[in-house]
Order: sequence, then structure tokens, then C-alpha cells
Amino acid sequence: MKKIVIAVDGYSSTGKSTLAKALAKKMNYVFVDSGAMYRAITLYFLRERINWDNTAEVNAALQNITLDFEYNAEKGKSDMLLNEENVEVEIREMLVSEKVSDVSTVKEVREFAVAQQQKMGEKKGIVMDGRDIGTTVFPDAELKIFVTAAPEVRVERRFKQLYEINPSINIEDVKKNLEMRDYIDSHREVSPLRQADDAIVLDNSDLTREEQLAKALKLVDERIN
Ligand code: C5P
Repeated sequence: MKKIVIAVDGYSSTGKSTLAKALAKKMNYVFVDSGAMYRAITLYFLRERINWDNTAEVNAALQNITLDFEYNAEKGKSDMLLNEENVEVEIREMLVSEKVSDVSTVKEVREFAVAQQQKMGEKKGIVMDGRDIGTTVFPDAELKIFVTAAPEVRVERRFKQLYEINPSINIEDVKKNLEMRDYIDSHREVSPLRQADDAIVLDNSDLTREEQLAKALKLVDERIN
């Protein structure tokens, strides 16, 4: 069967990764969470106290970063490895969430991540979720889905996710973080978050995971056949 590239973009906590992961599983495709790569770079910068406004420092730091995904059979998805260390839990914490959008505005950081993402898609048969996948990483993707959901639905979903890791989390902080990231992501100079002209909008505010997946699979089917 013909293999295609599927780009899934959208604002924070719209359920992009959930959809992308489910699609990849159903199609037996590779799933890549591009946000995890930006989060891992941010974690490295925070740990090593890299000043990301200094281009020379950023370039030197990027040379010391190796990013890999390692399949975790228990979770049915890949964990993020930063220089061979599993950082899957740490990259989801608030400390990283607070800085990741700033780090993601840096041109050199984006070039570093995008080059690796494009390499992963060379053989097709891939579902990648992020902010600029349909516009910059895979502008020729056969299928581009732009996922949206009502703001209150997104805050609630994100809160539930984070609460599992840290029950002391405050819903107002979660809301502020989502609003801040959305603002920075859609206003940055390099590859801002925007819907690709040829993307299909999928609003999942009132859809179950199964309904959302069914809609997406229909789109995939149309592209493949
Ligand atoms: O997808 P996730 O919310 O984990 O992404 C974290 C952050 O990484 C986003 O808020 C955004 O700043 C950045 N990002 C990006 N481009 C991507 C994926 C994520 O700038 N393709």
C-alpha cells in the first residue's frame, strides 16, 4: 500500500499527540512527537545554563546534543532520549514548559530540529505532530490536519495530564502556561504556528477519541486511494 506523510499541527493541548499516536498505530506508521525534541533541547539549555539569546553559545551547545526516540512497549509510544538519557518525565514538567516556547523561537534551534525531522520522514509512513509540520517540516505532506479544541477543554485536558504527575499543580498556572505558549508560538518570526493553506481543520471539542480517529482515518483513506 502507498505510504504517505501525515502532518498534525495545532495549538497546545488540543489532543494532537493523542490523534497522531492513534493514527500511527492504526496505520503501522512511525509516530514522532516533535514537541518532545524542543522540550529536550530546552532541558539541556536549562541544565547547562545556556543563554539562548547568544548565537555562538547556542551553536556550541547544539553540537553536544543528540536526540533519539526509544520505543517503550509498556506505554506503546517512544520516550525521548537526550544524549542517551531517558528524559521523558522531566521534559513534561512545568520548568521546561515555561521555557520551551522561548527556546523554540531561536532560528538555530529550529534548523537543528527540522533537519532531523525531515530525515525521519524521508521514507514516508510517518505521522508527526507539532506546530510547523505542515508548513515547514513537510510542506508536501499528503495529509495535513490542523487540530483545534475549545480553550476550556484544552486547559482541562492538560490539567488532568499534569495532575497525574504532580497533584499540587494549579489549574490557573496550567491555563496561563497554555496561553503564553500559544501566543509565543503563533507570533514568533521563524515558522510561526499557523494553519497550512491545504490543511483540514479537525475540531475535537465534542468528539471522543474514537470519533476523532475515525474522521482522520477517513481522510487518510481518501489520500491513499
Ligand atoms: O507539543 P508540545 O506542547 O509538547 O510542544 C512544546 C513546545 O515546543 C510548543 O509550545 C512550541 O513552543 C514548541 N514546538 C515548536 N514546533 C514544533 C513542536 C513544538 O515550536 N513543531
